[in-house]
Amino acid sequence: MTQSAAAIAASQRRTFAIISHPDAGKTTLTEKLLLMGGAIHLAGEVRAKGERRRTQSDWMKIEQQRGISVTTSVMTFEREGITYNLLDTPGHEDFSEDTFRTLTAVDAAVMVIDAAKGIEPQTRKLFEVCRLRDIPIITLVNKMDREAKDPFELMDEISETLALDCAPMVWPVGMGREFKGIYDIHNNRFVRMTEDGYEDIAVSGTEDEKLTAYMSEDQQLTLQEEAELAKEACPQFDMDSFREGHLTPVYFGSALKNFGVKELLNGIGAAAPSPGPQPSVGRIVDPGEDKVTGFVFKVQANMDPNHRDRIAFVRLVSGKFKRGMKLKHVRSGKPIAIYNPIMFFAQSRELAEEAWPGDIIGVPNHGTLRVGDTLSESEDLRFTGIPNFAPEILRRVRLDDPMKSKHLRKALESLAEEGVTQVFKPYFGANWIVGVVGQLQLDVLVTRIEQEYSIKVGLETAPYETARWVSGPDDAVNKFIDSNRSAMSEDRDGAPVFLARNSWELGHQQQTNPDVKFEKTRERS
Ligand code: GDP
Repeated sequence: MTQSAAAIAASQRRTFAIISHPDAGKTTLTEKLLLMGGAIHLAGEVRAKGERRRTQSDWMKIEQQRGISVTTSVMTFEREGITYNLLDTPGHEDFSEDTFRTLTAVDAAVMVIDAAKGIEPQTRKLFEVCRLRDIPIITLVNKMDREAKDPFELMDEISETLALDCAPMVWPVGMGREFKGIYDIHNNRFVRMTEDGYEDIAVSGTEDEKLTAYMSEDQQLTLQEEAELAKEACPQFDMDSFREGHLTPVYFGSALKNFGVKELLNGIGAAAPSPGPQPSVGRIVDPGEDKVTGFVFKVQANMDPNHRDRIAFVRLVSGKFKRGMKLKHVRSGKPIAIYNPIMFFAQSRELAEEAWPGDIIGVPNHGTLRVGDTLSESEDLRFTGIPNFAPEILRRVRLDDPMKSKHLRKALESLAEEGVTQVFKPYFGANWIVGVVGQLQLDVLVTRIEQEYSIKVGLETAPYETARWVSGPDDAVNKFIDSNRSAMSEDRDGAPVFLARNSWELGHQQQTNPDVKFEKTRERS
């Protein structure tokens, strides 16, 4: 059977994200990957672009003050016949909800670990999201040019804390100032770090005399022992196990020195899955199908606060998308003509007239498109698997001018559509409850309501600690709701949400209502 053009294009794509704890080297690695793909010619451009962008909008002053980056974007580059779509995720932990959403649109993730620090809290949190979605992980142990933990110790730590088998793909020779390079365990090559890059040396094995020119005798002996041990005692790379999320190939290197990055990128090209079938209600959609389909995983406000338009980030699932195409917005049933899609080819923006499964297009709109929405060329499909996450911080919104209540509702709803916050309307009482994953989201929320909608609001502590979507058999749910009305609210789609005062109360309710499901995530409808 011949493959369709969409199936071929999909097989040549790798859509991935980088997950890491702040400071582990994500930005540096991104720059080096883009350089390698020829997408940028000057290292540092990623950062510079970020800064220019940030100055354009007032609310982003917040991130500037805090010195963090909140916006998510997409970077596309090509190398050796493969198109890579790298979805950037904000590094700051307060914006993890955004990051979580971005992870619904990737097929693989690179986990960057600081070699001196090992697994840090944010790495772990993001890893859990990847695991929830069975996203395969490729690991880079970064900063080997600094003092680092022992490589075996690091791999043990990864295996133990994340329950993930580690298959070393290269082995580091030395660390810190004595870092000499990496030994490619499977192909008998030594990649030597030089002043201005690297040199590839084919050898017969770790005993090869050629190596004496590049490392001390001790280092070579250690390499012999360790590489042997790594081969015999560590799990070997296994594609199925990797794709199922049980095993991670491990690379060592230094993003700063652009060392080991090529090996990592080759590893992504060779092992990371290409865009695959996507589940929707009723059937699974294959990337090779002719008709275009896709889903919105993120909505971002225009950088200019005077314009209310937004960019919806759509991940294409199937077919060949062409500029100017009409796609049906399945939730409303209305067609949307996409004349000005933003495509993310950093090299040749103007040539990006088409996009394929796994690619991301930005669709400007006035608030019609929401996270979780499906766009489809013909069939009424609804993709599943783009969840809402239970907020970890809940606040009551206090409105200074009661005349503006309608106005506030609109503001909250549209900010919720963008994913800045979640809103809950209690069954009793007039005050809205907003829920966020991190503190910073609250600051952004208040600033934007003030600046974009000219409404002054305050946030008060709400007597709730956490929220859960309730579902299950109708009679069980109704019974639960009836006896807990004062703690019930609805989300913006009208779905019932239980607001718990504390985890004890939540646990108690779960025990006394075994037929009711209390969910931390809810699929968008
Ligand atoms: P991010 O917060 O994960 O994006 O981290 P950055 O890429 O901004 O890096 C944080 C700091 O670590 C910066 O000062 C980088 O120059 C430095 N850094 C990143 N990679 C390396 C590396 O491989 N070796 C060394 N020595 N420093 C690095």
